[in-house]
Amino acid sequence: MIKLIHVKKDYTEGGVITNALKDINLEVKDGEFVAIMGASGSGKSTLLHILGGMDKLTSGEYYYNDEAVHDMSMGRLNIFRRDHVSFVFQNAALMKYYTVAENIEMPLLSMNVGKKERKKIIEEKMEAVGIAHLAKKLPIHISGGEQTRTAIARALAGDNELLLADEPTGALDSQTSIQIMELLKEISKEKLVIMVTHNVTLANKYSDRVIALNDG
Ligand code: ADP
Ligand code: MG
Repeated sequence: MIKLIHVKKDYTEGGVITNALKDINLEVKDGEFVAIMGASGSGKSTLLHILGGMDKLTSGEYYYNDEAVHDMSMGRLNIFRRDHVSFVFQNAALMKYYTVAENIEMPLLSMNVGKKERKKIIEEKMEAVGIAHLAKKLPIHISGGEQTRTAIARALAGDNELLLADEPTGALDSQTSIQIMELLKEISKEKLVIMVTHNVTLANKYSDRVIALNDG
């Protein structure tokens, strides 16, 4: 379970302070599929980064189950991320000189998983997201939807219980977006899925809950 209490996040850049998150109070239960919506600049990515332990909050409290994430040092946050969080970045963010299979392998290498086990997991995850036939292709040689599937497979390879996705359907046509939403819905049966989206129809149709973010 996730609990945010009076969470604030400020960015300071060139003497200018941006209050990206102003006073967020949020509870998300295990097994929920949550969609975060809001205008550009409203703080959606910032919220996802805070939830994923990728950034420290300025004030407030963040509890992940019984862990006080707000008290963690950067080093401890790294461990928190490794143990709990999988992230699908905006625009898939694949390594362009690596094949689909090699991209999915990335988190497994940093987890020191043995070669045989890695191969098994890669095949399993490619199968799960429907891209088994693309293993040896480079990202530029597959479609946007397939790139997103690869990014999801890479996230799943880490096998963490919290899956965060930043606009996974942002660059996709409507039919492909539906397929990705169906995939995320399926994944949410086993994981807590929190996604950012601009598509209100898909958010309402597939997620259990829509959270609207308005200017932080
Ligand atoms: P969204 O994802 O909803 O478009 P963001 O969370 O990316 O919004 O940004 C929220 C606000 O914080 C924006 O005003 C943005 O310019 C600012 N911001 C985001 N990241 C940084 C950063 N690293 N440094 C300074 N300002 C930032
Ligand atoms: Mg964003």
